[in-house]
This record gives sequence, structure tokens and C-alpha cells, in this order.
Amino acid sequence: MSETQFLFAPPPRPSVAIDGEIERFPVRRIFCVGLNYAAHAREMGKDPGAEPPFFFSKPADAVVVSGTVIPYAPMTRNFHHEIELVAALGSGGANILRTRALEHVYGYAAGIDLTRRDLQKQARDEGKPWDLAKGFDQSAPIGAIHPAARIGHPNSGRIALSVNGALRQNGDLADMILDVAGVIAELSRYVALAAGDLIFTGTPEGVGPLVPGDRVEGDIAGVGEVSLGIAH
Ligand code: MN
Repeated sequence: MSETQFLFAPPPRPSVAIDGEIERFPVRRIFCVGLNYAAHAREMGKDPGAEPPFFFSKPADAVVVSGTVIPYAPMTRNFHHEIELVAALGSGGANILRTRALEHVYGYAAGIDLTRRDLQKQARDEGKPWDLAKGFDQSAPIGAIHPAARIGHPNSGRIALSVNGALRQNGDLADMILDVAGVIAELSRYVALAAGDLIFTGTPEGVGPLVPGDRVEGDIAGVGEVSLGIAH
């Protein structure tokens, strides 16, 4: 059997560290949930009762190893942090039952959904897609994945983010509108999920701008940490 011949060497597979393991988690796709915490929906000028959570995506190669210093993103003057619980899938499928959904989660990590807020608002106001407000280079910093076999499936606990030591976001996983099982069940109605998919499950209130030189630290109780620097 001959191997596939490529015109040029395929790019390296994006991956995420797994706590306590030598193997890395190979990333297939990155999905994200919008407006999954009521208080954050309200700070975005939305009525959480009228606008249920929805989905968008980022390219797989947007992942950034925790601890990296990245440049301030181009084409924005309002570069925001959003701390999020990330579910890493070890298997998948379409139309997954909510009651079976957690069986597909390999583990969890803390991630940051970096956002060009000005581009997002402009696209929203103009009725245009906001892909490039969310899915851009280095827009998905993520800490090590902690296997569910060790930490279980967290559904409550503090989710917090600080910038230069000052607390900016301080929420609780229990306030998610769709919990992880609900997210997987609903998302799998739209796409067939698969091993390697990462799902950023939404951010609590307190999102805000980053500036060059900032040091960002996120922490989810019982799950893990993520850190990030913004270059001067
Ligand atoms: Mn988000």
C-alpha cells in the first residue's frame, strides 16, 4: 500500500499537554459556546432569556501552549480575555444523548477564548459573520488537560482570571446555562463530534481588555490553570 504523496509537508498537528502523561492530546477542531453564563450575556447587552447559547469555532492551530508570551493581536484596539472550561473529547458522534454525553469527554482544561471585541461588535451590528473576531492566530491559549478519569466531571467550582495579579473574572461553573453534557448533546445535533475536538464552554462575567505587557492567569478549581503573557 502506497502512502499519500503531498505537494508539501503537511503542517504539524496542533496538540495540548496532558497532565501526568507523556502523550499529547492531538487537536482536531475547536468549538466554542457563546453566551453560556447569564451575567456575561447581560454584560454583552444581551437578554439571556431571549438569546440561548450558540456555537462558533476557531481553527485548530489557534491553540497556544500555556505560559507563552504572544503578541498583541493585529487589527484590534479592544483585545479581550475570556476564561473558559474546555472539554477535550476522546470520542464523539452525532445526536449524542445528554445522558451519554460525558462518556465522550477525555478530560478538562482551563482555556482563554481571546476575542477582538471591536471586530465582534462591528460584525454583529452589521449583520456580518464574526469569524475573524474569534478565530485568529494564537486565539486559544490552553493549559494542560486533566483526564476525567482522575478529576471527574466538574459541574461546579470557581472559574477565575486575573491580569497582573488583579482579579477580573470570578464565576462558578454551576452558573453555566448549558452544562458540559448539554453542550455536547446540543452541538452534536449540528456536527458529528470526534476524538480530538476541544469545546470552549463559555465565559463568566468580567471580560475585559488586555494591553501590551499584561500577565494573565486563569484558574478553574479542581481542573487546572492557564497563563499567558502579552508582549510589550
Ligand atoms: Mn467565549
